[in-house]
Parts: sequence; structure tokens; C-alpha cells
Amino acid sequence: MEKIKVIGAGLAGCEAAWQIAEAGIKVELYDMKPRKYSPAHKSPFLCELVCSNSLKSNETTSASGLLKEELRKLNSLVVGCADKCRIPAGGALAVDREKFSMMVTDKIKSHKNISFIEKEVRKIDLDGNIKIIATGPLTSEPLAEHISEICGGSLSFFDAAAPIVTAESIDMDNAFFASRYDKGNGEDYLNCPMDRDEYEAFYSYLINAERAPIKDFDVLAPKVYEGCMPVEVLALRGKDALRYGPMKPVGLKDPKTEKRPYAVVQLRRENLIGNLYNMVGFQTNLKFKEQKTVFGLIPALKNAEFVRFGVMHRNTFIDSPRILDEVYSMKNNSSIFFAGQITGTEGYMESVSSGIVAGVNAVRKARGVSSVIFPKETMIGALASYISDKSIKNFQPMGANFGIIPDFPEKIRDKRLKKEMMAERALKLIDKVINDENNS
Ligand SMILES: Cc1cc2nc3c(=O)[nH]c(=O)nc-3n(C[C@H](O)[C@H](O)[C@H](O)COP(=O)(O)OP(=O)(O)OC[C@H]3O[C@@H](n4cnc5c(N)ncnc54)[C@H](O)[C@@H]3O)c2cc1C
Repeated sequence: MEKIKVIGAGLAGCEAAWQIAEAGIKVELYDMKPRKYSPAHKSPFLCELVCSNSLKSNETTSASGLLKEELRKLNSLVVGCADKCRIPAGGALAVDREKFSMMVTDKIKSHKNISFIEKEVRKIDLDGNIKIIATGPLTSEPLAEHISEICGGSLSFFDAAAPIVTAESIDMDNAFFASRYDKGNGEDYLNCPMDRDEYEAFYSYLINAERAPIKDFDVLAPKVYEGCMPVEVLALRGKDALRYGPMKPVGLKDPKTEKRPYAVVQLRRENLIGNLYNMVGFQTNLKFKEQKTVFGLIPALKNAEFVRFGVMHRNTFIDSPRILDEVYSMKNNSSIFFAGQITGTEGYMESVSSGIVAGVNAVRKARGVSSVIFPKETMIGALASYISDKSIKNFQPMGANFGIIPDFPEKIRDKRLKKEMMAERALKLIDKVINDENNS
């Protein structure tokens, strides 16, 4: 049987390669790292988390929790490794990022059916052999140009990453451990409270601080992935926008004052040993020296040592509804699959989701059997259906959410109950897909 090429060993590419290899088919997996790095990738290991180390909620009544549970049922390599590298983060699944990437790399590189090739792919051979393109939102320029040619155009815009500080540089007299509403074990988040005067001084510096030059950023700002909106752009929505966003104080009480703070910056543990913390929701494109000054106005961070400042990057995706079908293969060339953020499935787990669907279906294509289309009532199927929905004209990337899953015929008023029912239905349908596959 022919080898399948997977290009890009990020979240989607590693997952796709694993699924193919586990099905007994040989894979050639390409990545340009460590010879060449995108502006956001820094680690020589595969499946790198370029920004947050949180894979979001683990509860099945949340969209991302449901997606993860579906992926677990399908033996996802990435979710399996994430579960093993988990660090405390309340109801979320956060991981020690280095341990996680190392574990995935080890599994991939030691699999007997996977050959890993360190190379920048600059062009896709349209030779009829099966390929999966999973080069992500920061696909290198020559390949991005070629993809644009074969897809009739691709888009670029910008995303942002948050700063990371050392634990020992945080002023603990002005910080306290607590999870909102006392969820989690109480040590997952380190909170940096601010009173009104401190917040106002911080706010007025922030909105006037100098940004790093990114051409046309203001024009492109509305297109920035909402979950990665730079804090200075969010602040421009109004004086209290941050207090309703990343700096919201609800569910927290400062043990020093016994009161809810006026505003709070939350820091989340970045690694298992807890010597690094990232600033939750503080993605930014400010100049580095401005970041040091403005974040230094947060009392707990007045002497903070930044091991990484926030940065902004290009983000590329194709116009999937015109190009892909619901198994992520090209409508006009079913040997070419796409997977990951480049398809517009936005987010780490969403990238894994498209990696699994593309991988499983690349195997079926190689065996000459019909595709498996995941039901729209599952989160995996709903994402696949969304990105291939021709009725969507101005396509923008989509993350997991219950709004893309078809409703029940009857009206269910209780929102929590409805999500529980949707999750139950979705997980049963995933079991059915697995049973059908085993019995075929
Ligand atoms: C700056 C930034 C921050 C983000 N933050 C978050 C976040 O906090 N949470 C979240 O859920 N999502 C986030 N995302 C969105 C998205 O989930 C991640 O980018 C995710 O890693 C995408 O997975 P992927 O497999 O599609 O691509 P990637 O994980 O980026 O993997 C692509 C791989 O392809 C390789 N590659 C690229 N070009 C070539 C080439 N020509 N030849 C060979 N190899 C190549 C790269 O080296 C890389 O290893 C962020 C995106 C960006 C850009």
C-alpha cells in the first residue's frame, strides 16, 4: 500500500500521522523544525503549544470538554499525552508544555510505521498520491504561496501570545492563590489584585502605550482571533472592558482586604514545577519595554522578570467552504487533505479534531473504502460540517461551540440540561462510529 505523506508535525499533523500509522499504513511526516522555525515556534520538539498551555475545559458540558472526550474515545495521541502531562488548572486541562511535546515527539519518532523527515516542504506534488497538509497558521512563505495557488487564494491576519514571568519575581505580598468560586485546588491561579486607582493608572498607560509595528494591524484587528485579542486592543473597547474580560474580579476575594478586588490579573502556572507563570488573557503586541513598564504597574508584578514577552504573528487559513469537503479533502482533488488551523478549525483541540478526521479518511482512501463522515451532532462532525459549508460566504475560523451543533426538535429551556443532553447524544454517536468501524 502507498505511503501517506503528512506535512507539518504540529497538533494536527502528529495526530493524523499517528492515526494512519496505528491503522498499519506507512507515513512520511515532514517538519521544517528544528532547521527553520516560524515566528512563534521555539521548541525543537513536535506538537508545540505556541501560546497558552491550557487546552481549555475538561467538562463535557463545555464545548471544548466535549470535543476532548470525543477525541479520547477515538484514541487521540495528543489528548492521551495531554492527560498524562496534566498540571493543576481547576476544571481546565492544562499541561506542562515541554513534557507534553517531548512525549508526543517520542511516540511519533519511535513508531515503526512513521518516518520523520526534517525538511521545509515548499511545493505540493500533485501526483495523485495521498497527502495531508497540516502546516498550521504560520505555514512558511514558499509553501503558503503554493497552497494559495492550488486553492485559488488564502488569507492572512494576526494572532497574539501572552507574556510569561518567573514565579520568584512575583511580589507575593500583593498576590494570592485562589480559583474563581473556589473551584480547583486553590493553587491553580495566582491572582494579582488592583484597587481602583491602580487600575486607572494601569489602564491609561496601556491604551497609550507604543505597539510593535505590524502593518495594517488596526485594519486587521477585527479579524484577530477573539480568544487571543491583544489586551491593548480589547482595552480600547472601553474603560471597563478589561474588568469584564481578563481582569474580571468575580468569584475572588482578596484575603488581605476580605473584599472582592476592583480588578485582577490572573497568572496560571506554566509548568508542573511551578517556576513560571503566564498572564491569562494578556496577549499583547506592545513593544517589549512598554510591556515591562505597563505590566510593572500591576503591584504584584512591579519587579517581574519576563522570560517571554507577548508577541503577535501572522495566521493563515484557506477558504475551506469552497475548497474542502467534510472529511477535509479537496473537493476537486480527493488525494489532498488539509488538517489543523489552516482549515479554519480554530484552536489546539480543534486542530487535533481535523487531524483525526483527515487521518482516518486518508487511510480509507488508501484502502479504497468510502469515507467516514462524523455526525453533525458530534463536536468533531459539527466542526467538519462548518468548515465545508458552502453557504458560508465570508468564512472565518471556528472553534468548538454548541451553536454549531444541530438543536433538538423540542425546545429545552434549561441551558445546562440542554448541553448535558447534547454531550450525551454526541458521545453515543461517537461510540456508534467506533462500533460501525469495528464491525465493517
Ligand atoms: C501565535 C498564536 C497563538 C495561538 N494561541 C492559541 C491558544 O492559546 N489556544 C488555542 O487553542 N489555539 C491557539 N492558536 C491557534 C492554533 O490552535 C494553534 O496555532 C495550533 O498549534 C494549530 O495547530 P496546527 O497543527 O494546525 O499547526 P501547528 O501546531 O502550528 O503545526 C504546524 C507545523 O508545521 C510546520 N511547518 C510549517 N510550514 C512548513 C513547511 N513548509 N514544511 C514543513 N513543515 C512546516 C511547523 O514547523 C509546525 O511544526 C494560536 C495560534 C497562533 C499563531
